[in-house]
Amino acid sequence: MMNVPLNISSMMERAEKYFPKKEVVTRTPAGNKRHTYREIAQRTRRLSSALQKLGVEQGDRVGTFAWNSNRHLEAYFGIPGIGAVLHTINIRLAPEHISYIVNHAEDKVLLIDSDLLPLVERVKDSFKTVQAYVVMTDGELPETSLSPVYSYEELLAEGDPEFEFVKDIDENSPAGICYTSATTGNPKGVVYSHRGIFLHSMALGMADTGGLSESDRCMAVVPMFHANAWGMPFIATWLGSTQVMPGAQFTPKVLAELIESEKITVTAGVPTIWLGLLKELETGEYDTSSLRAVLCGGSAAPPSMIKAFEVKYGIPFLHAYGMTETSPLVSVSRLKSYETDLPEEEKLSIRAKQGLVVPGLEVKIVGKDGEVKMDGEEMGELLIRGPWIASEYYNDERSKDAFYDGWLHTGDVATMDEEGVIKLVDRTKDLIKSGGEWISSVDLENGIMAHEAVFEAAVIAIPHQEWQERPLACVVLHDQFKDKVSKDDIMDFLRPQFAKWWLPDDVVFLDEIPKTSVGKFLKRALRDQLKEHYQI
Ligand code: ADP
Repeated sequence: MMNVPLNISSMMERAEKYFPKKEVVTRTPAGNKRHTYREIAQRTRRLSSALQKLGVEQGDRVGTFAWNSNRHLEAYFGIPGIGAVLHTINIRLAPEHISYIVNHAEDKVLLIDSDLLPLVERVKDSFKTVQAYVVMTDGELPETSLSPVYSYEELLAEGDPEFEFVKDIDENSPAGICYTSATTGNPKGVVYSHRGIFLHSMALGMADTGGLSESDRCMAVVPMFHANAWGMPFIATWLGSTQVMPGAQFTPKVLAELIESEKITVTAGVPTIWLGLLKELETGEYDTSSLRAVLCGGSAAPPSMIKAFEVKYGIPFLHAYGMTETSPLVSVSRLKSYETDLPEEEKLSIRAKQGLVVPGLEVKIVGKDGEVKMDGEEMGELLIRGPWIASEYYNDERSKDAFYDGWLHTGDVATMDEEGVIKLVDRTKDLIKSGGEWISSVDLENGIMAHEAVFEAAVIAIPHQEWQERPLACVVLHDQFKDKVSKDDIMDFLRPQFAKWWLPDDVVFLDEIPKTSVGKFLKRALRDQLKEHYQI
């Protein structure tokens, strides 16, 4: 066979050549902007040439500080298109973490959405390697203390629309870098190679995984700074699918409107986004009939949420699992052909698991006595290997804790049933260790969220003198149930679902659960907030 290096520029070239009329739509305050792939490809080529003129060379890192937009998509291809490395910066990180990752990645140029300028200005003095700032705006270059500063659109206007993407690079060379959102310590960098992104995109597109096609109208709600928006911008471009970018500061209402007006077929995001959307859909004002898949990952999808989408609104739901370290797709939860006639509740419980490992990867679950049995009971740590799994953290001593013996040690505790389906029990650090046994915070959360009055729920471990740790349930009620549902109601609801020793020692009602920068429950903050509950 020909040994042709895998290079992601070929994805944009394909969209340009075969789907020049298809569109990328970006929501802006002034209305939806529409560009064809012909235009996007030319703008991408202009960007590549402009970056070269700014002095960006092969291997240099270029940071993006941006929402999901056509310009961010151009950066996704324009930066690797000259052999440089796309560093998507999580705009919601704490300022000290932003400054850490810009310095750690040694970003040479930063591309910044104009509304995010104040965030960058606040930390600019700590940057050690940045040589130029490029502001992405439709209008005049705003007043800024950043220097030297350029207008993205002016650079593009002077750029070369026929620029040839650099092809002569090793497929293992870096195309992107993304830092994990760091619940403890500094963020850790994961470098994605051209080869890794190429193969991950193929896996994501397969019928039994993401199942994407040219006819799809894709909307990644997951930010483009969170694990490459789970790879959606790459595969959607490659296939020539229509892409809809929700832009800055969107609300559930905006998403519901976009789904209706742009006839979205596939969308992707974390469970908190979908809880918000479900609440909005209750107004009964939206036509969501175009949707054929709501892809959900990043945290466990509660069965009650899957049911609400499918039964109440007829919207097919797809639960997937992955990590920044894994590009991110690892497993997808779909029924096997011989399971489709099972009772509804059984099917729901299968689909709420994290699913089957996708073709191309290997997983194993290792407990105290080696690999666990495929019985859905025995728990152990989930280990993963494959061509789109990171082999280390970028320049980071902590690599040795996660990457050894040829496997990524995920820190996720899981079981595998006789069908090979993975079920995530918890993150190691969130498991509740009660009297030498383990209680899954995820299972308890799913149990509580099935109560009709509950909007969201997180369960945390609290130290306990006798049992070491015990579960504490933190519950947010839907507005109409506030002050109408008691601790006892929640406990009565849980009792038939769980063994007695699993039941939370207490239930606290909160107005909201603190979230991480990517919308997951921030359990560390909850534990701090609920210190007074310690030693109950
Ligand atoms: P961060 O580590 O910065 O939160 P990641 O997106 O890399 O961001 O987080 C990966 C982790 O998210 C996994 O290790 C796992 O604990 C959790 N996770 C991802 N998808 C799921 C899922 N479908 N169900 C349960 N947990 C999930």
